[in-house]
Amino acid sequence: MDQDTWMGQAVSIALDNVKESRGGPFGAIIVKDGQIVGRGRNEVTAMNDPTAHAEVQAIREACRKLGTFQLSDCELYTSCEPCPMCLGAIYWARPRAVYYACTKEDAASVGFDDHFIYEQIMLPHEERSIPFRQIELENRQSPFVAWSQAEKRIEY
Ligand SMILES: [Zn+2]
Repeated sequence: MDQDTWMGQAVSIALDNVKESRGGPFGAIIVKDGQIVGRGRNEVTAMNDPTAHAEVQAIREACRKLGTFQLSDCELYTSCEPCPMCLGAIYWARPRAVYYACTKEDAASVGFDDHFIYEQIMLPHEERSIPFRQIELENRQSPFVAWSQAEKRIEY
């Protein structure tokens, strides 16, 4: 199948999601060696899970199916340009390419504006709309010390 066909599947998932009232108008698939290994749709409202974006759902399914935490030989097709959360998840999953159909401007035009999150990332912690404050607990470094000394750690 070609890239338009794969993208057609992602868009079709997004459209069905709206028709079935499962969540926002977003769908994604993950392809490896010509096969779909993960499907995701936005299920934020259906699952009461603000992280249940289509891309994250597709990454979770693909990783579960493939038994891995890296999607290095995979490609992600998403019906819309990823939000900052999904962008982060995609970088952690490390697919070799991402294809998107709608732009984030298209999403903003129907009420899904993630531009403010990009702006928040650039702000100093004390100026963010959700305050981020460090608590300097004495043993705060202990998990890092344990990690750096652990013999059984799995790097990622
Ligand atoms: Zn997202």
